[in-house]
Amino acid sequence: MTEVREVIIIGSGPAGLTAAIYTARAQLNPLVIEGAPSSTSDQPGGQLMLTTEVENYPGFPEGIQGPELMANFRAQAERFGAEFITDKVTRVDFSDTPFGVWIGDDEYRAKSVIVSTGARSLMLGLEAESRLLGHGVSTCATCDGFFFRGQHIGVVGGGDSAMEEALFLTRFADKVTVIHRRDELRASKIMQERARNNPKIEFLWNATVSDLLGAEKLEGVEVRDTVTGERRVLPLTGLFVAIGHRPNTELFEGQLDLMDNGYLMTFDDRSKTSVDGVFACGDVQDDWYRQAITAAGSGCMAAIDAERWLEAQEG
Ligand code: NAP
Repeated sequence: MTEVREVIIIGSGPAGLTAAIYTARAQLNPLVIEGAPSSTSDQPGGQLMLTTEVENYPGFPEGIQGPELMANFRAQAERFGAEFITDKVTRVDFSDTPFGVWIGDDEYRAKSVIVSTGARSLMLGLEAESRLLGHGVSTCATCDGFFFRGQHIGVVGGGDSAMEEALFLTRFADKVTVIHRRDELRASKIMQERARNNPKIEFLWNATVSDLLGAEKLEGVEVRDTVTGERRVLPLTGLFVAIGHRPNTELFEGQLDLMDNGYLMTFDDRSKTSVDGVFACGDVQDDWYRQAITAAGSGCMAAIDAERWLEAQEG
């Protein structure tokens, strides 16, 4: 018989590891299935593993490197007895209890599950992109805008996220060039208007990013005109990719209710999902804030919800 655990946590970003700290301290002996290191979308530690300096996580007045912050989270969870498996969940079955979670043929069972598989930023798919991520290339203006004071930077995309990022970045940058692949924005009228009326923002229409220049840090961006095919290099020192996000919910299709945009649905302002005993936290259920601190906060909520739910089952 497979051992039945109190709680399995799937995912190990700020949400999952906070849930691990809280459930471990509540003596629930959590098993964290943290993801596979080779993967770019669900690597252990989550999206902060792809950043460098984090300056907005409270408690670190001098800032901290993203991977170091996540190593601290993990060490704190381990200190209270959380167990880890470094691999990727391949299948779940929430139709019956105890819930089933599989890594290949290996089966794990638990009375409750906390889902914290996060989301991934869509990327351009250029070879240099992953190398320069955190070194001039970013997917989060709120996180990294501050590092680009007085510079000329670019934003890729034509949706609300791109307009929001561009507007936010004008607080720091001298000039922001929005690079969009068409000659019409997808963003809402109000966001378009705000961006168009901002004197620091200029638009480069019908343009795609074809290459990123620089070995250690971004030194220029090659763009290709989609109409003429002409290529030229813009002297940008920062590039924010804002072409959308995808929640990592493929595993839960048909098992948990999803919103139209693919994010997990949670109920009653809590971490409850459509299945009693399964809880969700972090970016996998948050298409709005997407911050490490809000993910961590929701991980705490999920742990407390799971703990109280387990208690109620016994009572
Ligand atoms: P989105 O609406 O899907 O827009 C993505 C943009 O990126 C589109 O303009 C798209 O171009 C472009 N794009 C996609 N793949 C690309 C590629 N490979 N190369 C170059 N460009 C590419 O995503 P989003 O802006 O993240 O917004 C997601 C949702 O959140 C939307 O419903 C949005 O309204 C909402 N949101 C709202 C706010 C707000 O109200 N303040 C802020 C952020 C997001 P095309 O237009 O050519 O497809």
